[in-house]
Amino acid sequence: MAPLEVGAPHSASGEEAQERDLSRLAPAPRRSRRWVPRRVVITPDALEHAHGRRIVERVEALGIEVERLRANRLTGVRGDDERQTYARAKATLAVVVSPPSRRRLQPISPSADWRVDLAEGCPAHCQYCYLAGSLSGPPVTRVYADLDEILDNLHGYVGTGTVTSRSTARSAEGTTFEASCYSDPLALDHLTGSWQRAVEHFGTWDAPVQLRWTTKYDDVDRFLDLPHGGRTRVRFSVNCRPVTDRWEGGTSGLVERITALRRLAVVGYPVGLTIAPIMPLEGWREHYSELLTLVEQATADIAGLDLTAELITHRFTASSKQVLQGWYPRTTLEMDEARRTVKRGRFGSAKHVYPREVMAELRGWFTEQLAARLPRCRVLYWT
Ligand code: SF4
Repeated sequence: MAPLEVGAPHSASGEEAQERDLSRLAPAPRRSRRWVPRRVVITPDALEHAHGRRIVERVEALGIEVERLRANRLTGVRGDDERQTYARAKATLAVVVSPPSRRRLQPISPSADWRVDLAEGCPAHCQYCYLAGSLSGPPVTRVYADLDEILDNLHGYVGTGTVTSRSTARSAEGTTFEASCYSDPLALDHLTGSWQRAVEHFGTWDAPVQLRWTTKYDDVDRFLDLPHGGRTRVRFSVNCRPVTDRWEGGTSGLVERITALRRLAVVGYPVGLTIAPIMPLEGWREHYSELLTLVEQATADIAGLDLTAELITHRFTASSKQVLQGWYPRTTLEMDEARRTVKRGRFGSAKHVYPREVMAELRGWFTEQLAARLPRCRVLYWT
């Protein structure tokens, strides 16, 4: 596959887009490539679904062979050791039907009212990956063939949920559905088209609803002309350069993500920054300041910009640490319980977060800097 084009500032709306040379602020970003899985399989049940067949067509049109499994169980993923299993799983795309339990949506505070999964797994290699503590087994990327049914099921949830109805700042969003809890949409959409269809579904759904997803990729070309109706908020997961460069393998570069945010905002999408995971590395004020400068310069001239920020500090659990150290044995990522405070989750799970005074310092700095540098940006939450 050809490398992604880094989009030029976009003027599809008819407005003049001002060109800004972000390269002066930072070294050339890494160029990402669209993911080409080494193995693509589809289960018999998934082939029964129209979207499963659409994915097969799309993948085969890209010249990738699709293996039709005889049964609904995935086989041939485990290798001789953990490393080989990780490598095989990360290179595999499985088209499957979502588990029936996924029809009963789960609340996903503070991000959204409800979580809706279109896929599970991600081909990138972030050494702090949020999925490590949530998913079990080899990290195969599974995409769901029953997309049409998944989207239809959302209609029963309009007007329910507590996140946006309790917050006056967010009540205009309507009922919100988060579609990136277990995956990264733009890492996969060129193979599945699932998020494009979801954006169109929400765009033509005349109701107080919002689709939301966050990504570390910049592959937005196919989204620019979609009838999004302002009902999808695309957030870009960003961080300061040391975090991005050291621990976010296989993702798009920082400047490319911010350029992609700009391109979507120019064509009227509500957009957002998911600044995560925030880490108080040496020189963090300078590094995060550089990040805010990039965003400031990329968005300053966009009329009607609807920009939000979600601020999430780094945390880990005993199980996520164990999984991540298995996946990335030589990681330099700090996961030292002695330097953290324990925070109990809803179900008694222990998260290791930064101590109170570090949190207060980080929070104070971000609150002040965002207000000063990006005054149109609404901060949705800090955690
Ligand atoms: S992009 Fe997100 S889901 Fe994918 S590896 Fe990185 S943190 Fe995990």
